[in-house]
Amino acid sequence: MSNPIEAGLSSPPTLTPPVPRTGSLGRRLVIATLAFGIVFTLAAAALRTWQAWQANLASMTAELTLIDQVFQRTLSKAIWEMDRDALRTQLDSAAQVASVGRIELRVQQAGRAPEVLESHREGQTVSPMTPVITRELTYEPYAGASEVVGQLTLVGDERVLRDRLRGEVLDIVLTQLVQSLLLAGLIMWLFNSSVTVHVRYIARHLSELTPGTLGHALRLNRQARQGDELTLLEAGVNDLQHKLSTYLERQKQDERDLAAHRDRLAELVDEQTTELRAANKRLEEQSRADPLTGLANRRHFDELKDIEFRRAQRLGQPLTVLMCDVDFFKRYNDAYGHAQGDRCLQLLAEALRDNFARAGEVVARIGGEEFAVLLPGIDAAQARTAAERLRRRVAAMAIAHRDSAVGAHVTLSIGLAQFDPATMDHFDLLLHQADQALYRAKSQGRDQIAD
Ligand code: GH3
Ligand code: MG
Ligand code: MG
Repeated sequence: MSNPIEAGLSSPPTLTPPVPRTGSLGRRLVIATLAFGIVFTLAAAALRTWQAWQANLASMTAELTLIDQVFQRTLSKAIWEMDRDALRTQLDSAAQVASVGRIELRVQQAGRAPEVLESHREGQTVSPMTPVITRELTYEPYAGASEVVGQLTLVGDERVLRDRLRGEVLDIVLTQLVQSLLLAGLIMWLFNSSVTVHVRYIARHLSELTPGTLGHALRLNRQARQGDELTLLEAGVNDLQHKLSTYLERQKQDERDLAAHRDRLAELVDEQTTELRAANKRLEEQSRADPLTGLANRRHFDELKDIEFRRAQRLGQPLTVLMCDVDFFKRYNDAYGHAQGDRCLQLLAEALRDNFARAGEVVARIGGEEFAVLLPGIDAAQARTAAERLRRRVAAMAIAHRDSAVGAHVTLSIGLAQFDPATMDHFDLLLHQADQALYRAKSQGRDQIAD
């Protein structure tokens, strides 16, 4: 019996499933990391940009405050002294500071609307996002007398804010991008070296597995043998291989046992068949043999007589029948007992068998002390010679018979008849004729051959 699992050991054709198209887990992981990196970069850049904007605003406010402090005193003095040149010069120089977009000075005038002096950077635009500092200018012409002389307004330059922010945003985006790329690369490298390469190795190992190589354990080439998922997978594969191998081995053993049982069974059947045949043969032989003498019995004689009769008819060959009867056998029994009578019959049977031992010659015991002999291919003259030889042989055996009217020993009377195709169309006619001849032998004095 063949085993489907033992693809390499025995026959059924194995259908290898097509290898599915495979992508790389590492690449998918990198793409996901990159996508996440971009989203994260955008969010982080937005947050950090807002923070940078706030920091720039604070820094610009501080700068404006510093300018205010630097120019406050000199401007107040120039207003008080009505020194217009100095006032203009100071305003212009304050407007040169990088973070100042516009500077406005309101000079108080008694009984009149304040005079407004202004200086601003080229191309500066008013924006609500830039910081604005407004301060009253006071002058103390002498100790204890403080007077408000005007109002100073410093407005930050939005372009400066934007320029600073642009540089920072570029830095932020570049940093985040490089960080994301490096992270993706690192993940890919780590994933490849610690997972992908081993998973591919396991896949190759499994695809090359055959019943013969189940004993080859899976060994991952890993430096650190930690109890991670790959270690579990490795152990699982090896455990499965071991179980499969044991199962196959057990199955092979079962198959061997089964084959041995089958062979033993076949031997037993053979033995029993032989015994049965022998017994049948014995039975058949027994059913055809006379138990006392071992000669053919009446039934067998009837089978053979027809065969020989037809053969003689067909081939035109002679066929002769002898009917032999023991003389005064009743008296023999009476004189020596039935058992001795049986013994006498056995001796006579032996003589008959010896005398007619040629191929095709049949001797049968057809009655109590009556024997018939079939002699195919033998004519009456040859049969008479053979019968005479038998008679002499019986005489030579000299079996004592004290009550025989013929002599002191057991004798036979023999009737002889030859098949005549012209007058006999069935065997019983020939047998009947032999019987009549026997009757004649008896009536003519026994211990003789008649035809
Ligand atoms: P005849 O010369 O006219 O043939 O006389 P016979 O006494 O031989 O003939 P009969 O037919 O009167 O007797 C045959 C005897 O054979 C009777 C029987 O006791 C004996 N006999 C038949 N079968 C057996 C047998 O199997 N064993 C023994 N011992 N005797 C048998
Ligand atoms: Mg008789
Ligand atoms: Mg007799």
